[in-house]
Amino acid sequence: MPTGSGVYIFKGQGTLPLYIGKSVNIRSRVLSHLRTPDEAKMIAQTRRIDFIETAGELGALLLEARMIKEQSPLFNQRLRRTRRLYSLRLVQTNKGSVLEIVDGKAVSLGATPKLFGLFSSNHSAKTKLNELAQEHRLCKVILGLEKTSTRGCFGLQIKTCNGACVGQEDRPLHDQRLLTALEDLKVEVWPFSGAVELIEENNGWVQRHRVNNWCHLETWCSKTGQASQFSTFNPQDFDRDSYQILVKPIMLQTVEIQSC
Ligand SMILES: [Zn+2]
Repeated sequence: MPTGSGVYIFKGQGTLPLYIGKSVNIRSRVLSHLRTPDEAKMIAQTRRIDFIETAGELGALLLEARMIKEQSPLFNQRLRRTRRLYSLRLVQTNKGSVLEIVDGKAVSLGATPKLFGLFSSNHSAKTKLNELAQEHRLCKVILGLEKTSTRGCFGLQIKTCNGACVGQEDRPLHDQRLLTALEDLKVEVWPFSGAVELIEENNGWVQRHRVNNWCHLETWCSKTGQASQFSTFNPQDFDRDSYQILVKPIMLQTVEIQSC
């Protein structure tokens, strides 16, 4: 097993993988699997372990996510393909800011501003909104989680709402607090006018990951001189896992980026 970045694959008797993982050090990660008592069941079924090296960590993350989606290994719980995504959109009305739940099919995720959170269902978007209301003493009537009443929201009676519904709290202050509550959930808009290449280099070995609107299109490898194409660009292909892998390196520019 190599000590560099890449993806490793635990295989059983059939051709289908049991487990796919990634690491910046394949060897030490695989060894730690072998020493984990909770994974004894998977290890007992393993007949061989394969690996694919990558030039860097980003390449390993992108490859792992794609392989898990394509092959659905028995022991991988996460990174299941979510066909439908929902988000919260901040909308300005004459009274102030409100949130509406939007279907990812109806808005362009990753290209539309003022979206917060990526949820696999309408219900989980509502649950998150309820949690935020609770945590930040926001008004559930204003957030559209409760019906309007002249006596204010239920939270006002049990003192979990600061009272924006009855004018006890100024609406702009409530809206400012709402914005703060949503900060960490912001869905970044793709910051380039088109596709870019993210470049990873390791001792002269170069991999260039072509990405557009948070969608991984292909990876070119200097060892083969070829690009393996994963998808053609389609704005509807927005994928939550790819977004989560790419958002920090791109927004914080911790990876070399070239426009193309
Ligand atoms: Zn209220």
